[in-house]
Amino acid sequence: MWMERRFAYAARVNDDATAEATDLLQHLIRNACVNDGDVASGHEHRSVDLLRSYLEGSGVDLQSYEPAPGRGSLVARIEGRDPTAPTLLLMGHTDVVPANADRWRHDPFGGEVIDGQVWGRGAVDMLNLTATMAVAMRRLAESGFSPDGTLVYLAVADEEAMGTWGAAHLVDHETDAIRADYVITESGGIPIPTPGGVKLPVMVGEKGCFWVKLRVRGTPGHGSQPWKTDNALVTAASVVQRIAEYRPETQINEIWRKFLEGVGLPDEMTAPLLSPDSFRDALDALPIGMARQFHACTHTTFSPNIAHGGSKINTIPDTVELEIDIRTLPGQTSEDVEAMLRDALGDLADRVEFDAHVHDASSASPIETPLWDSLARTTSRFYEGSAIVPMLIVGATDARFFRRLGATSYGFGLFSQRLTFEDFAVMFHGDDERVDQESLRLSTELWEAVARDMLGG
Ligand SMILES: [Zn+2]
Repeated sequence: MWMERRFAYAARVNDDATAEATDLLQHLIRNACVNDGDVASGHEHRSVDLLRSYLEGSGVDLQSYEPAPGRGSLVARIEGRDPTAPTLLLMGHTDVVPANADRWRHDPFGGEVIDGQVWGRGAVDMLNLTATMAVAMRRLAESGFSPDGTLVYLAVADEEAMGTWGAAHLVDHETDAIRADYVITESGGIPIPTPGGVKLPVMVGEKGCFWVKLRVRGTPGHGSQPWKTDNALVTAASVVQRIAEYRPETQINEIWRKFLEGVGLPDEMTAPLLSPDSFRDALDALPIGMARQFHACTHTTFSPNIAHGGSKINTIPDTVELEIDIRTLPGQTSEDVEAMLRDALGDLADRVEFDAHVHDASSASPIETPLWDSLARTTSRFYEGSAIVPMLIVGATDARFFRRLGATSYGFGLFSQRLTFEDFAVMFHGDDERVDQESLRLSTELWEAVARDMLGG
């Protein structure tokens, strides 16, 4: 089957990159590398095989890694002529989160093209970029691209569950294979139309994850006599309530300030969003999706998402466990977060045992870098009069591992204006995920342009 596919690709050399990116994306979606967090899920080796077949014969060096059965990642490189010149890594993950087919208008793993859009889980998170990066890589190699610096493509497993079998493994154990000065991965690049032209957000940093379990103790007793008992569930309800009502301070960090100033909203909108005193009231005037995003960019957030407690209908529970998803801002430590939790809980803090089981600190790259300048130069060819603006991504991506290695890492892609910022906000891990083919063309061309601009040759 792969012989046929490769023949089909070869026949289309110099043909439309859009068709090639569409085809590759459809196959990646159909591979259904669903990662539910279990080591036995993911099966990213399917997409490693697909991408290897696609890239083989184009002149790139290929190497795959599989730290656990099925959890494969692929590295492709075009070695530079000058060992002192920088290395640029384009990284896309191949795994996706589960999808509930009943809620979708089309098969989430069908990869159908309908009205110029490719449908399926991963269409924007982030198989679109994984596919277009591979197409750019192949096209560059086949065009005889011989840069000063080195270009690396990494199709990585396990992004959707902490990166243990993907980026974390490679950074720790295969450092030489993936070491880079500059990294581009998800997401960013969704055009924001403004009176002053299109603005394209570059994700220069991301929030940290602090996942904590709170154990609330009570005293067991008979459910038939609740008067003045010490019911752990009743205490836990108050704990949840206090966390929900907690209002951590608004932090106007550098990324936020530069984003807002760069977007160039009217002064009467910008000024209140740059002051901690007026920030929350200003959110009320915005569409809810935008308000949530803006709030998350400037606050440590606390979301109580799991509660386990009680064992029997006639028994007063003696233990309840709550799990809180806390997202931190650049510079915050676990001590900072624990102090905030105590502050939120007040006198109930003594009734709770804390058990922080994940802490992945927030990370950010500098804004003034050669990669920033290169993205500014190259994107303006696609959107005349556009400007890039820095942004903080509120979820986690594999960029954090590369920032710890010292690489300048940004989240970026390029999209058409067919879908809006609000459309994208609901599609990430949501229903009816899809991407238009024009966006695939733009991204493919962008990767080629950035590689040439950054690496010379
Ligand atoms: Zn993703």
